[in-house]
Amino acid sequence: MKTINRLEEISDGKLYDIDDIVKADTYGCNGCSDCCSDVGELVVLTPFDVYEMVSYLGVDFDELLGDKIVLRPNNKILLPHLKMQDNNKKCSFLNKEGRCIIHSKRPNICRLFPLGRVYKDDDFKYFLQVGNCPKEDLKDVKVKNWVGIENYEENRKFILEWYKFIKALTFRLKFVRDEKEVEAINQILLDSCYRIKIKEEDNFYFVFLKYLPEIKNRLGII
Ligand code: SF4
Ligand code: SF4
Repeated sequence: MKTINRLEEISDGKLYDIDDIVKADTYGCNGCSDCCSDVGELVVLTPFDVYEMVSYLGVDFDELLGDKIVLRPNNKILLPHLKMQDNNKKCSFLNKEGRCIIHSKRPNICRLFPLGRVYKDDDFKYFLQVGNCPKEDLKDVKVKNWVGIENYEENRKFILEWYKFIKALTFRLKFVRDEKEVEAINQILLDSCYRIKIKEEDNFYFVFLKYLPEIKNRLGII
């Protein structure tokens, strides 16, 4: 999650809405997988990202933990991140041919690149990262088509709720000094948000947002 101040240094200086046109189209990437290396600290997974992965691969969260996903602390909150391979720092979801094995269900952050999101005033916009993708002459594309997220409005609502939720939890944990309490809070977070069971016929966003007030209550946040 970038802040506005740093944006000028890493972007083309513009902010984009979902229906805007941006020079982000890498026209297929042609075998490149540069943005799938050494991004372990950058790709924080939301419960939706994990839900998509586990449903697609037919596994559960704990089967991915350690092998494909690692927990990293950030402001005392333990959140799942993509795991990079020990020997070459490439993402664990990248196969020998340099292809993402969960391409159609890859995390939202992976989908956006070379776009990123910036949050402001209870909303977010997109920005174009410059200097990170080696492909030259990126082509014009509508942001909506580039990110290719299904049920975009539901996803957007979820992303904003999740962002607010993490902010509130960060604030809550700021005042918790007891390590055991921090551990207990993180356990509730992982169990209720990442190990959440959703029936095949149910809609992730609907179920998650329905339980969110109860989860907040258990975590002691508003
Ligand atoms: S770095 Fe750019 S060209 Fe390479 S895989 Fe990522 S988006 Fe595609
Ligand atoms: S999940 Fe897929 S797209 Fe994302 S970094 Fe890993 S291999 Fe690349």
